[in-house]
Parts: sequence; structure tokens; C-alpha cells
Amino acid sequence: MTIPTSFDVVHSCGHTLTHDLTSRSADQRAGYVRWLSSRQCTDCWRTAHQADAASTAEWLANRRAEEQNAATAWADQFDMPPLEGPEKILAWGERTRHQLVTAAYTALVTEGTWDEADWAAFEEQVRLVTRAGWWVDQRDAQGSDLPELLDAAHDRDRPTENPFR
Ligand SMILES: [Zn+2]
Repeated sequence: MTIPTSFDVVHSCGHTLTHDLTSRSADQRAGYVRWLSSRQCTDCWRTAHQADAASTAEWLANRRAEEQNAATAWADQFDMPPLEGPEKILAWGERTRHQLVTAAYTALVTEGTWDEADWAAFEEQVRLVTRAGWWVDQRDAQGSDLPELLDAAHDRDRPTENPFR
């Protein structure tokens, strides 16, 4: 009796595909057929995988749009100036600024010792740093570190600080 090289495999998705297992040695074929039958057929796997990727991309795009709306509303409400820099990072810089300043408020005022006057003075410093790239560079910072980071900001990060320069 000869071990066959061609197998009809019923995949977990219910589709039956004929697999040529000539390239497998005779003693490996049964195990490989078992493994194949526990998996979706190639078409189903690809379809499911693409759907996953598409829904992840859509979810990310939606979340980014929500964050952008929140950042824009926040900038309006607190009179934050528009950022400056390359077009492609402006929105990113605005989202980062919103998230960092909000985190700083939580750390320094809500959970910290700052009063509203301290915060108002700090907000003035925040308004001066309008270079989008600066905010993007701080995206991994903690909110509580923001005062120190703002102190370290360079003149070029505050392009509008001195209009007579
Ligand atoms: Zn299938």
C-alpha cells in the first residue's frame, strides 16, 4: 500500500481543498493534513485578515479624528494659538499639545499643589511655544514634566514671542 500524495482536506471554515503533499515525506503527511484541517482555507484566512486590517485602520482613523476634534475645541476654548511648522505635522502637534497640557493640569493642579494662578501663568508659557515639531518631540513626556520641558524650549520654538526681534 502506498501513502497518497494528494489529500482532500476539510478546513475549519468548512471548505474542502485538495492539497498536493508530494513535497512532504510519507510519514509527515497525515500530521500535516491534521494541521491543515484545523486552519481556515487560504481564501478565508486572507479575507478575515484583510477585514481585520481594514477595521483596525478605520478604528485608528476614527480615533485620530476624535482626538483632533477634541484638540481643536480645546485650543478654541483656552485661546491656544495655531501651531507653526510643516503642514503634515501640524495636526499631530496640536493633538500632542492638547494631550500633554491636559495631563499636566491633572498632575499639577487636580492631583498636585498648583492653584489656578500658577496654572494661568503656566498657560501663558504654553501659548508661546508654537512650533509643532517641539510638541511632537515631547509626545512621550509625562504631564508633570511639561513645566521643565517648556523652560528648556529654545527661542526658535517660540517664534512669536518677540515680534521686534
Ligand atoms: Zn474557506
